[in-house]
Amino acid sequence: MGKLIIFSAPSGSGKTTIVRRLMTLVEGLEFSVSATSRQPRGTEQNGKDYYFLSGEEFDRKVSEDAFVEWEEVYAGTKYGTLRSELERIWAEGHTILFDVDVKGGVRLKDIFGSDALSIFVMPPSIEELRNRLVGRATDSPEKIEQRIAKADEELGYAEKFDLVVVNDDLEEAVGKVREAVVGFIAK
Ligand code: ADP
Ligand code: 5GP
Repeated sequence: MGKLIIFSAPSGSGKTTIVRRLMTLVEGLEFSVSATSRQPRGTEQNGKDYYFLSGEEFDRKVSEDAFVEWEEVYAGTKYGTLRSELERIWAEGHTILFDVDVKGGVRLKDIFGSDALSIFVMPPSIEELRNRLVGRATDSPEKIEQRIAKADEELGYAEKFDLVVVNDDLEEAVGKVREAVVGFIAK
């Protein structure tokens, strides 16, 4: 079994931005592609961004015990980590990166223990989170309010992670994440 690095954060905290930067700075990292029951958005591709499944296909995989963990992250929409994905990435000798919701992050850390490093990306404030979601311009005002309402609850999970990185100054946050990841891989 190889190592795993888990990233969780309230939507809009800057997790995607940080993880993309990290992948250009540290070699041997590979994303776990999750399965989801939602429809593809924009330019998203099956097998690259997600494995897009129908609700029935998703439920069948749950009953076949194909997932390490899965959650209904948004009402009616399920997301999960496939066991086959972990085996595929470890077979390549890579460290697996996860982008999962806070509950999934805590669950994966519980399962993999010291083989996993869990990182919570914290926004400087809820106000700044709103500014970033508005600035990103990918969600309707209604979706933004839903994400902010959820953020309050999600922040309560931060203490369950190995490392909390406040993403205020981006360069500083990337530096902290890089240092922790390099140290963890070298262990
Ligand atoms: P997440 O993946 O957590 O939902 P994103 O990485 O998409 O968040 O970031 C949300 C928005 O905030 C994006 O428009 C991104 O460019 C911007 N952003 C990310 N980090 C910072 C930062 N440190 N300061 C200001 N804006 C940021
Ligand atoms: P999206 O904006 O892609 O619809 O929402 C993704 C949300 O689901 C994010 O919070 C992301 O971290 C979470 N997510 C994606 N894949 C998984 C997964 O495999 N398991 C869990 N628990 N959450 C996931």
